[in-house]
Amino acid sequence: MRLLVIEDDEHLGRAIADCLRQEGYAIDWERNGAEAASILAFQSYDAIVVDVGLPDLDGIAILRGLRARGDRTPVLVLTARAAVDDRVVALDIGADDYLAKPFDVREFLARCRALLRRAKGEASDRIVIGRMVFDGIAKIVTVDNTQMLLPNREFRLLEILLRSKGRMLDKDQIADQLFDFDHDAGPNAIEVYIARLRKKFAGVLTIRTARGLGYAIEPADDAA
Ligand code: CA
Repeated sequence: MRLLVIEDDEHLGRAIADCLRQEGYAIDWERNGAEAASILAFQSYDAIVVDVGLPDLDGIAILRGLRARGDRTPVLVLTARAAVDDRVVALDIGADDYLAKPFDVREFLARCRALLRRAKGEASDRIVIGRMVFDGIAKIVTVDNTQMLLPNREFRLLEILLRSKGRMLDKDQIADQLFDFDHDAGPNAIEVYIARLRKKFAGVLTIRTARGLGYAIEPADDAA
């Protein structure tokens, strides 16, 4: 999943971008409101975290612009503690949630997860496929009740494939969710990650390839 963070405070922006990356999300971090708005004109995200006070264009104007053109991307607005008016306006014009500064990183991450979950219409982050249980919140994958440890990128690639629910995803669609602008590792990297997942989940999951169409995931034949 890919998120856009719009925050001009260097310290806070870096802290939240880093903690989201540690969760395995692809993160683009913008410090300038007008530049963020121009990126949003062509790049779609799974969620947006936006500060209210920004150079050139404030967070409220960015949110207003999104909603005005019918973009329903979930938005978490960051506000100053005392700025009740900002929170009311943000919610009124279509913010999904807000968080007053300063906040605890764990609460921030929990709200981001809730936002992403609601956007996808899921009550929990547990997906059962064949013998495997995938828990996106706890970040745990188990096969036959044995926990598998997966590096972040492999975990999120598995999540992207599982959430596609059998629909084919091509490499561009996968890369768009897995990488940010700074880490655009290209189609070969996806092949490498797919190969690793196939090896680790041999006999449990099948990742099908259709030339020109992409990848889809399903339980292995002997795992049903
Ligand atoms: Ca600010």
